[in-house]
Amino acid sequence: MQKFQQYIDGDFSDGSAQFESRDPATGQVWALMPEARRDDVNRAVEAAERAFFAPDWANMTATGRGKLLTRLADLIAENAEILAKLETRDTGKIIRETSAQIAYVADFYRYYAGLADKIEGAHLPIDKPDMEVWLRREPVGVVAAIVPWNSQLFLSAVKIGPALAAGCTVVLKASEDAPAPMLEFARIFDRAGFPKGVLNVITGFGADCGAVLTSHPKVDHIAFTGGPETARHIVRNSAENLASTSLELGGKSPFIVFEDADIDSAVNAQVSGIFAATGQSCVAGSRLIISNKIKDAFLAKLIAKAADVVIGAPDDVATEVGPLCTIGQRDNAVDLIARSVAVGAVVVAGGAPLKRDGNYFPPTILDCSDAPDAPCLTQEFFGPVLSVLGFDTEEDALRLANDTTYGLASGVFTRDLTRAHRMIRRLRAGIVWVNTYRAVSPMVPFGGHGLSGHGREGGLQAALDYTKVKAVWLRTSDEPIPDPFVMR
Ligand code: NAD
Repeated sequence: MQKFQQYIDGDFSDGSAQFESRDPATGQVWALMPEARRDDVNRAVEAAERAFFAPDWANMTATGRGKLLTRLADLIAENAEILAKLETRDTGKIIRETSAQIAYVADFYRYYAGLADKIEGAHLPIDKPDMEVWLRREPVGVVAAIVPWNSQLFLSAVKIGPALAAGCTVVLKASEDAPAPMLEFARIFDRAGFPKGVLNVITGFGADCGAVLTSHPKVDHIAFTGGPETARHIVRNSAENLASTSLELGGKSPFIVFEDADIDSAVNAQVSGIFAATGQSCVAGSRLIISNKIKDAFLAKLIAKAADVVIGAPDDVATEVGPLCTIGQRDNAVDLIARSVAVGAVVVAGGAPLKRDGNYFPPTILDCSDAPDAPCLTQEFFGPVLSVLGFDTEEDALRLANDTTYGLASGVFTRDLTRAHRMIRRLRAGIVWVNTYRAVSPMVPFGGHGLSGHGREGGLQAALDYTKVKAVWLRTSDEPIPDPFVMR
């Protein structure tokens, strides 16, 4: 059985305890993981704090940090195959997707490498003749980065990349559901030449590890990706250290198709939008909101495509839909479908787990035309389940699309340019994709409204969010300071 170690202060060690990780494709235990508890978390945060103030990091130029990030990007690209295989093994995410995504993760680090020496301060035209005032952008300090199991290398890159570019240090907590890719990433990071303690990688459970980390008095910023319920715990924890937070949470994203859309293209985008990554994607287009004029024809094509999807072992390059990461995810889908069917939703494709070992669940479509209050329309599945509603007018489409407590992504399919602009303006979501879906890039900010969280990852703004402004006042006069009892 493979055994992994945590990475603290430049050393690899076992955790205070160990836990088993299961292969989602077989349900069998395949590896032993180090479980970080209070002592390990404390050591990791203290290492990050020491590293933050140590001269080899604190005095390193931004150009120097950029060079190290470039070296890290090269190492990730060289080791993409190893990382992809591990992510597939531990999460069940298909090898087609992990291979492509991890190769792209290297580009995210390259982007932040390039940004490191472009995080500029400012000079102010101050209203006092004997003063110079300028603003320095300084790193916020120790960052606690917490990621869920899906796309961990990607979701950690958009935290580690900007944090290190800005000069912060990081303790990253990998998901206990599938920590292997992050623990292997630590081995690769170790070869890039960063000073010890700049990045520490641990894993463990919510109460003993996550809560200790996010309430630690030496943590200055918490960058979290995960579910809204965990986010609430984290915000409460951050009341202890008054750390700032950025929260990238879930979604119930609308995928809106008007009657004038390119139907074949929209069907393909919908298939990718909900069934790719076995639906375990925060931006999943999980609510199809479709013009009643084309609903039946569109659904017929979609059902045919769903039936053709190749379900299989995640390490087989032919596989298009692999298993869900955990058995809990599978049971959650079963429960939510049953509760939705009970109030009138109709299963028109899939609907039940496959009868084989592993957490396999087929592409599933629920027609909710007669069940506008079905829980499948409001609750996140994080599985390959699409809920469908028809609309008659543009105003109806907008109302249905915005009828959610989330607000992460949205998709609009139409060839009508003016309508597209009206929709872009009025959709309450952090991302609007028009005639496309599920596109990402290092340059583009990513984040949501409402229960989808706050803060943005990706792009220049994300790097600025890992800095604080320091205002510097310098008096240029050699005259004695006048009346000391008058504020200047
Ligand atoms: P989760 O919230 O259960 O867990 C996420 C992480 O938080 C894990 O590492 C977990 O150990 C940790 N955690 C749990 N309790 C904690 C506590 N009390 N304090 C600190 N940390 C704690 O999420 P999940 O079920 O692993 O992942 C799925 C969720 O993540 C979905 O809601 C999904 O939409 C969301 N997600 C969002 C994005 C995005 O960018 N917006 C991307 C991917 C996933």
